[in-house]
Amino acid sequence: MRGGRVAVVGGSIAGCAVAMAAHRAGAAEVVVFERTPGRLEDRGVGVGVRADLYEELAGAGYLGDDAQYVRLDRRAWFTADGSRTGRAVGAMEFSFRAYNWGLLWRALRDRVPERVDYRRDTPVAAVTAGTDGARVALADGTAERFDLVVGADGYRSVVREAMFPGVRPQWAGYLLWRGIAPARLMPPRETGWRDGDAAMIGFPGGHAMVFLIPDRDGGEQVVNWALYSRPPASAVLDPADPTSLPPGTVTADLLAHLDLLIDELPPYWAELVRLTPAPEIFVQPIYDLQSGSFAAGRLALAGDAAAVVRPHTGGGAVKALQDAIALEAALSGTDDLDAALLAYDVRRAPIGRAMVALGRGLGTAQVLDTPDWAAMDQDALHAWWAAIPGQLPLGGRALIG
Ligand SMILES: Cc1cc2nc3c(=O)[nH]c(=O)nc-3n(C[C@H](O)[C@H](O)[C@H](O)COP(=O)(O)OP(=O)(O)OC[C@H]3O[C@@H](n4cnc5c(N)ncnc54)[C@H](O)[C@@H]3O)c2cc1C
Repeated sequence: MRGGRVAVVGGSIAGCAVAMAAHRAGAAEVVVFERTPGRLEDRGVGVGVRADLYEELAGAGYLGDDAQYVRLDRRAWFTADGSRTGRAVGAMEFSFRAYNWGLLWRALRDRVPERVDYRRDTPVAAVTAGTDGARVALADGTAERFDLVVGADGYRSVVREAMFPGVRPQWAGYLLWRGIAPARLMPPRETGWRDGDAAMIGFPGGHAMVFLIPDRDGGEQVVNWALYSRPPASAVLDPADPTSLPPGTVTADLLAHLDLLIDELPPYWAELVRLTPAPEIFVQPIYDLQSGSFAAGRLALAGDAAAVVRPHTGGGAVKALQDAIALEAALSGTDDLDAALLAYDVRRAPIGRAMVALGRGLGTAQVLDTPDWAAMDQDALHAWWAAIPGQLPLGGRALIG
């Protein structure tokens, strides 16, 4: 780009990265519209970035060592066998950085150049495409024209709605309960857990994942847990509108069902979940979505707005950052926005599709059609894992290569 006005709808992970990308690619003016009035950083928990992909993102200048993380190098699988900590089934290599979502977002936000106009508490009501630009209508009734509008506005994107009306995320049929347990409950050695482990606890109809992350201030570590399973029959969920239930809003029947599910876990891991204060637990319905393409006219999509991938992939944040890097590469040094956006779409849409497919394969194997955990050992674990469909490794594909 040589000059021009770019609007970025959404100021989360993808939004901050896309604002950097547009600025670096030569946009004269970049405006970020973020609807959240309060502190975004207080709302997330653990988020993973594969170690080799981190190196790539850092090399491109999008991440750096300014956000604390916990280094993970192994996934250790357990299952109930009547003992306190369960039977160690086997282990797999897992080279990831485990971030606190808030610290990762803060580090990105701090990288957004001063010249970018980041407007909090500014919801976008609608976006309308024109031939050589697009109009952003704000909830306060005002509107502005831009040469390019990028939707980084997550799974319920208004920009995607302007591009592909009616295309919505699809409900996967199960939920993710998440929480942060106090640091004093860090896994004891007798579990077989060691520094650098992410514990995976398999049970019929789901699994739990437990790993350490930095706390909100980055000073201490806390235990991040996530448990996937189907909802109870009594749950009132609208599959067409899978809204997350943030901490403090989880319904009594979903909390009661979690209590039943954790009876399937070895007592130590169950206790870890049980000692998490109920107001700190949140529930995320799992869904996925692949939009038709990542660009149409002067509208483009990045991050979850473009493709929603299931959290099992460990690749949602990386994918968002990679989208921004690809957008920067496409827009840099060209006046032909249409050709640049086509190049962006060609490069990123296949990755979005592949990540969605990987998430579906992982969801089926780990939640909807779980193996016979009692019969599983290290060899069987590897054979089961290798048979999961999806052409990508966990965490996503490298940008280069
Ligand atoms: C507060 C928050 C906490 C999260 N915590 C975690 C976590 O703990 N672990 C994890 O793995 N993933 C988490 N995620 C999801 C994760 O950030 C994404 O899956 C991934 O990083 C891609 O992000 P994204 O920026 O594309 O989408 P999102 O992170 O969903 O961001 C979309 C942004 O757009 C804004 N927005 C939406 N509609 C409008 C509108 N009409 N006008 C203006 N702004 C709008 C939203 O407020 C939001 O900030 C979280 C997301 C958010 C918003």
